[in-house]
Formats: sequence, C-alpha cells, structure tokens
Amino acid sequence: MLEKTEKIWMDGKLVPWDEAKVHVLTHSLHYGLALFEGIRCYQTEKGPAIFRLPEHVKRLKDSAHIFMIEIPYSEEEIEKAIIDTVRANGGRECYIRPLVYLGYGVMGISSKGCPVNLSIAVWPWGAYFGEDGMKHGIRAKTSSFIRGHVNSNMSRAKVTGSYVNSQLAKKESVSCGYEEALLLDTEGYVSEASGANVFIARNGALKTTPLTSILEGITRDTIIELARDLGIELKEERFTRDEVYISDEAFLTGTAAEVTPIRELDGRAIGTGNPGPIAKKIQDLFFSIVKGREKKYDHWLTYI
Ligand SMILES: *Cc1c(COP(=O)(O)O)cnc(C)c1O
Repeated sequence: MLEKTEKIWMDGKLVPWDEAKVHVLTHSLHYGLALFEGIRCYQTEKGPAIFRLPEHVKRLKDSAHIFMIEIPYSEEEIEKAIIDTVRANGGRECYIRPLVYLGYGVMGISSKGCPVNLSIAVWPWGAYFGEDGMKHGIRAKTSSFIRGHVNSNMSRAKVTGSYVNSQLAKKESVSCGYEEALLLDTEGYVSEASGANVFIARNGALKTTPLTSILEGITRDTIIELARDLGIELKEERFTRDEVYISDEAFLTGTAAEVTPIRELDGRAIGTGNPGPIAKKIQDLFFSIVKGREKKYDHWLTYI
C-alpha cells in the first residue's frame, strides 16, 4: 500500500494528503489524457537532492505541448512547487509525481475549455523491483501486446493513456510468473519495458533502442552519458528479442526502476544469469551520483 505523506500540492496550495481530491467528472479520468512525471529525491551527505529536476520539468512541458495543453505555470514555477512539496513533507528521500490533468467542467473528447490542473505528490518508494531485483536482476517476458505505432499515442510524451498498453503487458507478464514485460514495436524489434528503457551488452559494447517507439528516458540519457565517460562503446540501434537472448547482459533504466539488471528473458538466461560487470559498474556509478558522491556529475542534482 501507498505510504502516506503530509501534503500534496494542488493548483498552488499545499493541502493535507487525505483532502487532495477531484470530482468524479474530472475529464482525465474518462478519456485517458493526463501528462505526468516520475522524479526521485535522494538523501545525500549535503541533504536531500532532486535528480535532474529541470530535465523532468521540461519534459512535462513538452508532453503537454504535444497534446496542445497549456500548463498554467512556468517551468521555474513548477520546479519551485516541486521543491516546496518535498520540503513540506520533511525533505525526505522520495518519489515525486507531478500530474497535469484536465479537470472538471467540460465533457466530450475535444476537451475545449476544460481547466488544466497540476498536482504534485511525493511518497517514499524504494527499489521498484525490490532490493532483490536490484541486486540479482529480474525475469522478463516478451509481451504479446506491442508498443503503439509512432503515430498512435505519441511516444515522446509521458502520457497516462500510454499506460493502458503498459498495464496490459505488465499484467500478462506478472500472471505468467515474470516480473516485467518487454514490449516489441510495430515492426517486431525490441521497444521498451512497461515503464523503463532497455539496454543490452554484447562483447563489451552496449546497445539501446533508438528514439522511435520509446519514451525518451532521462535515466536512459544519463546512462548513455556515463557509458561514454567510462569508455564503453554504445550504439543507439534497433535489436531483436533473440539478440537479447544471446546478450551477455541486459538491464532496464528509469526513474522508478533506476538501473535494474534483467537476468532472464522468456526462460532463457541472459549471459551467466547473473548481473554482469557492465550493468554493475553502471549501477554503482549511478547510485554514487544520485547520492551526491561524484563531483563531476553534481550538476545533475538540485539540493533543496
Ligand atoms: C517514464 C518512462 C520511462 C523512463 O524514463 P525516465 O525519464 O528515465 O524515468 C521509460 N519508458 C516509459 C514508457 C516511461 O513512461
């Protein structure tokens, strides 16, 4: 169950958690269009710090832009509201969920004239696949549901509607005894997991899906930069599910998943069936960065 915190930011006000409510005729509840972000605040030796805050807020603005929705706040105002919300909840390590939604007042698909609301909630959220998944890797299944066509839902937007597809895939995997789904694109190449991007490693080089059917993950971007800095060859290139089967390593990246190794796909062990050296090296560096221990990457942290 969700662990409650004190306050939720709603349209400019910090309201008590239990009072952060919406009307049942809230447009987004009916037609599946709301834009959101997932951001993490980590505890560091210099106090709490939010990882890549400006990039997340920019993506929220971009997601809204794609859907011709005007957020009634500037990027600076949203960043400040996020910081205020973390502080109002004790400045602890947390997951941050800003949500831009179409509110109450208009029904019908066009949503013309509908109010645009913004809420920001924070709550404690540990490793998405548990400490065991983080350490030993997870088991994934190729989904029978495919990621949408690039001209269907707009993959560049982090939009709730795309999560209908994600939930179908996730439920299928979990009901088959796996922890995560690997979705393919309309041409059959590997796209991404239900809410995370995918990397594979073969013969010491990394590969990740190019920016086609996938969300442009900020963790993905982080890992690409780290791989380059570590001198690991990296290609943004399409690959097939059987290339994952014969890879030495595979891992997922995302704000929720952080850097989680995949140890098995469709019953085939990946590499030795244990997290490999590249995944481990990148995972260690990632956690060292978010905990404020890497001076070189300190510009990615907003200390609050
Ligand atoms: C949020 C998300 C990701 C990961 O993006 P990050 O910016 O790294 O958190 C990947 N795929 C999908 C579909 C997502 O919604």
